[in-house]
Amino acid sequence: MASSPPQQQPPPPFAAQNLTAQGPVQVPPGSGAGALPGAFANLQISRGAAPPPGAPRGLTPQQAPPAFAARPGPPPAAARPAFPGSPPAPPFVRAPTAATSASPPFGGQPGLVSQPLPPFGGPPGAASQPPPSFGVPPGVVSQAPPPFGGPPAAVSQAPPPFGGPPATASQAPSPFVGHTVAASQAAPFGGPLVAGSHPPPFGGPPVAGSQPAVPPRPTFPGHSGPMAAAAAWTQPTPPSFGAPQQPPPPFGSRPVGQPPFATQSAPVAQQLPFMGPPRANAPAFGPPSWQAQGAGSGAMQPPMRMPGIPGSMQPNTLGPPGTPTIPYSPHAGTQVSTPSKIDPNQIPRPMPESSVIIYETRQGGQATIPPAASSEFIVKDTGNCSPRLMRCTVNQIPCTGDLLTTSGMPLALMVQPFSLPHPSEEPIQLVDFGEMGPIRCSRCKAYINPFMKFVDQGRHFICNLCGFRNDTPRDYMCNLGPDGRRRDADDRPELSRGTVEFVATKEFLVRDPMPAVYFFLIDVSMNAIQTGATAAACSAIAQAISDLPEGPRTMVGIATFDSAIHFYSLKRAQQQPLMLIVPDVQDVYTPLQTDLILPVSECRENLEQLLESIPNMFENNRVADSAFGAAMKAGFLAMKSTGGKLLVFQSVLPSLGVGSLSAREAEGRANITTGDKEAHKLLQPVDNTLKTMALEFAEYQVCVDVFLTTQSYVDIASISVVPQTTGGRVYYYYPFSALSDPAKLFNDLRWNISRPQGFEAVMRVRCSQGLQVQDYFGNFCKRVPTDIDLPAIDSDKTVMVTFKHDDKLPENVECGFQCALLYTTVYGQRRIRVINLSLSCTNLLANLFRCADLETQFACFLKQAANGIPTSPLPRIRDEATNTCINILQSYRKHCASVTSSGQLILPEALKLLPLYTLALVKSVGLRTDGRLDDHSYWISLVSSISVVLAVPLVFPRLIPIHDLISRDDDDSLVPSPLMLNSENVQEDGIYLLENGEDGLIYLGNMVNPATLEQIFGVSSLAALPVQLALDQFDNELSRKVNEVVNEIRRQRCSYLRLRLCRRGEPSGDFFRSFLIEDKAPGVFSYVEFLVHVHRQIQSKMT
Ligand SMILES: [Zn+2]
Repeated sequence: MASSPPQQQPPPPFAAQNLTAQGPVQVPPGSGAGALPGAFANLQISRGAAPPPGAPRGLTPQQAPPAFAARPGPPPAAARPAFPGSPPAPPFVRAPTAATSASPPFGGQPGLVSQPLPPFGGPPGAASQPPPSFGVPPGVVSQAPPPFGGPPAAVSQAPPPFGGPPATASQAPSPFVGHTVAASQAAPFGGPLVAGSHPPPFGGPPVAGSQPAVPPRPTFPGHSGPMAAAAAWTQPTPPSFGAPQQPPPPFGSRPVGQPPFATQSAPVAQQLPFMGPPRANAPAFGPPSWQAQGAGSGAMQPPMRMPGIPGSMQPNTLGPPGTPTIPYSPHAGTQVSTPSKIDPNQIPRPMPESSVIIYETRQGGQATIPPAASSEFIVKDTGNCSPRLMRCTVNQIPCTGDLLTTSGMPLALMVQPFSLPHPSEEPIQLVDFGEMGPIRCSRCKAYINPFMKFVDQGRHFICNLCGFRNDTPRDYMCNLGPDGRRRDADDRPELSRGTVEFVATKEFLVRDPMPAVYFFLIDVSMNAIQTGATAAACSAIAQAISDLPEGPRTMVGIATFDSAIHFYSLKRAQQQPLMLIVPDVQDVYTPLQTDLILPVSECRENLEQLLESIPNMFENNRVADSAFGAAMKAGFLAMKSTGGKLLVFQSVLPSLGVGSLSAREAEGRANITTGDKEAHKLLQPVDNTLKTMALEFAEYQVCVDVFLTTQSYVDIASISVVPQTTGGRVYYYYPFSALSDPAKLFNDLRWNISRPQGFEAVMRVRCSQGLQVQDYFGNFCKRVPTDIDLPAIDSDKTVMVTFKHDDKLPENVECGFQCALLYTTVYGQRRIRVINLSLSCTNLLANLFRCADLETQFACFLKQAANGIPTSPLPRIRDEATNTCINILQSYRKHCASVTSSGQLILPEALKLLPLYTLALVKSVGLRTDGRLDDHSYWISLVSSISVVLAVPLVFPRLIPIHDLISRDDDDSLVPSPLMLNSENVQEDGIYLLENGEDGLIYLGNMVNPATLEQIFGVSSLAALPVQLALDQFDNELSRKVNEVVNEIRRQRCSYLRLRLCRRGEPSGDFFRSFLIEDKAPGVFSYVEFLVHVHRQIQSKMT
């Protein structure tokens, strides 16, 4: 980076004429003159009495957080539900075996911060002080290590000389453990500690409140969702999670004090030997009974044969895509077009798997094959990392690039470094090497891990990634046992666990670890006010601030904007908040105030008062313009010295000031059906303005999340660049409904700030010689080829890392991967999370197919497709997706299948659902030709950081009948087994929920029993159903069950499903039916036809 030296640039002096005066309000032109005066009645307006120039705006010494030792312990669980990484556990316990005692929170280890730290070294990312990249200067080292004997990379940043105290390990920061101190005594969230000493990871108490509907926090990625509930202040006593079940209260009309979500603790605990806290006992979506569950199964799985598919197709069976032979009718009912010789009942489909798998990551010195991401499993880390944290597209690594190419499969890792563990899993251990810092390979800087081999009675160790023979530091020596392992290996997490966390020494700091800063920006332009979006945002923030991390290091700030930006000074000393207006939206600055961002403890009352006032203050605002870009920039300037999270609530197309946008396509034509070959360009950002801004934000560790509460086109393609570059995400509420969306907005915000997360992070993935990292995909900023910068990283974010061969890998040696994530916890500790995976290498194609990971591969294809959409025409993207599938299956057919099967379509067992998922991808919202521009852009932005476990459902949703929930007794899971996605399963007298992790479409047939309607919706006829759906709970069993199912799904998905009613004969009904993947659709194959097409393509390639 060639940026100027890091300096805190004081904002421009606060020009007097830009300020409104105390007393009678002078409203700058264009800022809603007509509306404001009355609305401001309860505000004082400051003339910008600026503090002395140069006054620090961040933490002053007086404001600096007290040493942790002085901190009070965590608040009672009841008062402070589930905050990941809550304060402090006692600092390091020496014995690693302390693992079973108190478990420090994510980011625990408070004592560290009170150690002397290097002075503030200027903003990270500046040229002279690049963010610490694990001791290797960015740009100096590529994936390949320097030549043997070469100069040590970056001497000045090398780890400190050895000789420090021996490593001590303490129980580690489970990212998801709540309150440490209480961990071993009380469940952080009021729930019982079923798993003995481990507090349940999330499981945040659903708290009832004023919001109509609120999901619980996720307890478990993909299986148990997040989301807790509403108004914390109205609900001081969270219900136990896992406590004997109370009947679930209605969603929306839940009595205060009752959990919105049902959990099934008792029965579950009986079923699961390892089970502690409650979990979803619903079968995970699509768990693969089709994939070998047995860890390490070495036997070749039999391929899937498709006897029904003839060797040569009758030429007239079906036409190519684009020429459907059977016209698609959304109302076709059970009509499914199938070639006569194929039995639709024999084609591969996902089968629900109800049993929980106990998965050991290594057995007998070898990596085991992980269970499918969508299945329910409990990981025992026996050397390799949990597959939740990092998993590979193939579980054996091809020795050569040629073999990989032949297979047609991708070689990539999906890394989700903060993914939620299963409640019964051991927390990640924290290791403190003291001043010595973590042991690293002196050549490639890889961190010590279980695969580094100690030799010469322990005096040397050989790096598993680069092969370098290192001297063992004197204080780290230990004799080897008869098995060649160090005798202390089992007692040292860094030598026995796939994932550990190291305390970062000062070499990893360029400044004091940043505080947790949250700055809220709220659109108050006319549209936002009138649609209720502003009120919803204020309400959501007011409720969510009680979920911010506790402690003096948590700081907040707030501003509103229309055609001007309004800051607020929230000092407690003032009786009322002060408003400070910045009217210049081209050359933005911030008021020179020290109190725009304050510790939350100092301004909570004023902030709450302000949030309550804002909707009224701007009630009559007639300013339609919205200076989104300028407001972001101003918010950024206010938090530039610290970094932090900028949460923006935006309701209209940004129309004014820096970064303003235009409706690139009139709303009515805002779709890509127009046949324009350049249509995909509308999915690219309009220019570089916002990207440039985002790069600057990232450099100063500011992460932006954008909540789009809108009823019109807002150009997500342009806006999404900011969150994508800064580690944030877009939330999209379209068309915004003041009736049903506030609950989702609140829950999304609450989860955003309360999920496990870290700040000012840098991530690098290293791998064994022979491979190199090709690229990273996800929401981050990349300045050097080897590292990615993440101003924020959280439990939902996944980064895809692709690899290529640069040499041969030896077959008898394992190939290692190591992800190192340097980050700051929400409590200000600097940590390095190191995630290791070591896999066998193979020269046999059959092994690659046997060990293929379907869902991980599919997530890879999904991301690649989304990545290509803005730059390629959609038909090409669809063809590429289809061809990828065909190439993989053809490789298997050609090289692995027996000769006798020439006339059959043969699918490798591990990948037998690849055609189905590929077809679902081709039919997905993102790859469809119809649809609104913003829908496509949102889909692309969502996929960018999506996890493996949510990738499949996004395109291959779950279809659940809800009209007959009571009569089902064949299945004891909360969520019934999903139906196959075809119209045969959708009856006209039924009601169905189709969910993809984001949306829940509730489909009503035309002949639904009025009594059923009455029970679920409280109306007796279809005509009486409201347009906006808020699912209430009524006093009957069916209604309770429906609410239970919806809540359980929200929990499993870590996402508050947005419910929409879909009716037959309306566009909404057609939209619903477009997700019936197995059906034929205009221009797109049915599932059976697609299999035939794939088969035919394979045959033609074979000849
Ligand atoms: Zn090395």
